[in-house]
Amino acid sequence: MNKIQKLLIAGAFLFSGTGIAQELKHCGTTEAMNKLFAEHPEIYQQYLQEEEANRLKDQEAYAQGYPGMNNRSSVPLYTIPVVFHIIHQNGTENITDAQIHDQMRILNEDYSKMNANNANTVAAFQSISADCQIAFKLAQKDPNGNCTNGIDRIYSAETNIGDDGSKLNPWPRNKYLNVWVVKTIDNGAAGYAYLPGTAFNPATDGIIILHNYIGSIGTGNSVVSHALTHEVGHYLNLLHCWGNGNTPGQASNCSADDNVTDTPNTIGWTSCNLSGATCGSALDNVQNFMEYSYCSTMFTTGQKNRMHNALNSTSAQRNQLSTTTNLAATGVSTPAVLCAADFLSNSSTNIVCAGDDITFTDNSWNGDPTSWSWSFPGGTPSTSADSNPTITYNTPGVYDVSLTVSNGSGSVSTTKTSYIIVNHNTAQYSNTVYSEGFETSTVPGADWNIKNTNSGSNAWEVTSTAAATGSKSVRILNASTYVGHVDELLGPSIDMTQIAGTTPTLTFKVAHAQKTAASADKLQFYVSTNCGQTWVLRKALTGASLSTAGVVASSFVPNASQWVTQSVNLNGYTTQTNLYYMFRFTSDGGNNIYIDDINLAGTQVGIEDEIANNLNFNVFPNPSTENTTISFDLIDKLNVDLRVLDVVGREVSVIYSGNLNNGEYKYNVNEHAKLAAGVYFVKLTVDNRTFTKKLIVE
Ligand SMILES: [Zn+2]
Repeated sequence: MNKIQKLLIAGAFLFSGTGIAQELKHCGTTEAMNKLFAEHPEIYQQYLQEEEANRLKDQEAYAQGYPGMNNRSSVPLYTIPVVFHIIHQNGTENITDAQIHDQMRILNEDYSKMNANNANTVAAFQSISADCQIAFKLAQKDPNGNCTNGIDRIYSAETNIGDDGSKLNPWPRNKYLNVWVVKTIDNGAAGYAYLPGTAFNPATDGIIILHNYIGSIGTGNSVVSHALTHEVGHYLNLLHCWGNGNTPGQASNCSADDNVTDTPNTIGWTSCNLSGATCGSALDNVQNFMEYSYCSTMFTTGQKNRMHNALNSTSAQRNQLSTTTNLAATGVSTPAVLCAADFLSNSSTNIVCAGDDITFTDNSWNGDPTSWSWSFPGGTPSTSADSNPTITYNTPGVYDVSLTVSNGSGSVSTTKTSYIIVNHNTAQYSNTVYSEGFETSTVPGADWNIKNTNSGSNAWEVTSTAAATGSKSVRILNASTYVGHVDELLGPSIDMTQIAGTTPTLTFKVAHAQKTAASADKLQFYVSTNCGQTWVLRKALTGASLSTAGVVASSFVPNASQWVTQSVNLNGYTTQTNLYYMFRFTSDGGNNIYIDDINLAGTQVGIEDEIANNLNFNVFPNPSTENTTISFDLIDKLNVDLRVLDVVGREVSVIYSGNLNNGEYKYNVNEHAKLAAGVYFVKLTVDNRTFTKKLIVE
């Protein structure tokens, strides 16, 4: 099942109220712990001893009515500084600040019994539904004492793996709760945590969780929005209600326990059966956050007591998190300090047509600004004192945006240079043919704009170092440190109705080398029919298909024979009067790329299998020991069938079957089937043509 289908099911569950809870993912904490225990039997013995002590402590506290666990107080007794590390490759897994803030709201509500759905708690459990009196705050100072918004974005392919090795840049666990957000989790879970007694390695202590199980907005949704609450429960030493193990629903679970006396003994739930009663209990606590019922509303008083014990224990240094010293060190003590100005826009590309509006939103870090001073060169109005102003851009050009925010005790500023691109409403070129050889054009300049996602890398530029014809071309000097950097070269607009001929084809010459046989730099060609607000993929070349000179270890400069002509079919755009085009280069740390001699004419150039040539079908890593990813590109809306077969051709898993729009696709095999060691075939059928790759799982 793909992600969209999964969300649809989650949505169906949400609206029907009955639904198929087992379609929702479970947590991988037990698997992670068992893996650790298998590798370190001594930790298991130590854990058993600690667990026995926890059990006795709980029984004693229960006998005394859990002293000090007064439910009526709403004052948090503990505050935990939190950092979110967003591990991403610029896809949807790079979730917004707003989605993280929404998750923090939900987490705080759940741990203070302020969650709206707590009202749905069945009568039998209302009296022990606890205000846990634990608060969570995004860190405002990083481990070096510098300003932070508590959100750490890291570009890494580890987002596709999602195991302990994906826990990049951990902040000290005695100061912060580390939450890593990823696209895929190795063991097929939604997330996992280590209980304090099993947090053997400080660098991997914390929670790793899927981006689409974060919050109720963006890629999250309300059904899964309590998944982090569950994982934080583990982080604060709670077991599942049915005890250790990850097989809820089994009768044998009656002989296990979560070592919290006020949670009824249960076999565990993966559905929301509110009248469920197992293991001799009068009624199970199906709505407990430590169940998989996906209708959770509460923790019990006993669970609260056990979490407070964890926060007072030296086990995994949890007792250091809420100290006054640490709250000051992490900047979460009030009052917050306004430490950096920041803002967002409502445009996904920050490119618009002349005459369009853009709304800007203050996103400054910490300290609640009370006044705003914006500057919008090229905009109308050109200044504003609103927190979220809407600005009209009437004149084509490239514009900075500046913001100064103050809150009475401080003032901070930022300028985002070349932040907004305003494009022409009518085509810049209305000719029978169009050509560009970079002999006189400047980049950036009247025809050309550049955008890059990462500062500090080399951008598209005109060079005299090499040329297919004449003496100049455009290039990017690539480097191994630029992995993941995205550079766009945005061209002028063309009136396609004026191009003579009926089969418009754009050709360009490219020269590129790989640094190693594994380097997979990517060049994509896009067009836009709305001034660059959205783009449609028309060509994609990557790795060896992009390279025109094989592998070159030194900084690549092409000779005359190392230029290759590529063509892009634009037959679908003959009626467009204002078509923009763009080259996008995504570095994999390979070698330099050069482009020259762009030509657009109304005759077909070369007869090629466009679908096959742009498919970039890849299965990696291969051989694979953990997650296997399948990727391909489509330059049209096409019928696609993707499946995994075993060595004798039997179907193992159908990963996708149906129509897909033009774009880039990545599928994680583990999400569909756990492959045992062996040889497989990945079969991709596109538009009735079949492409097969062998996959070895070790
Ligand atoms: Zn769990």
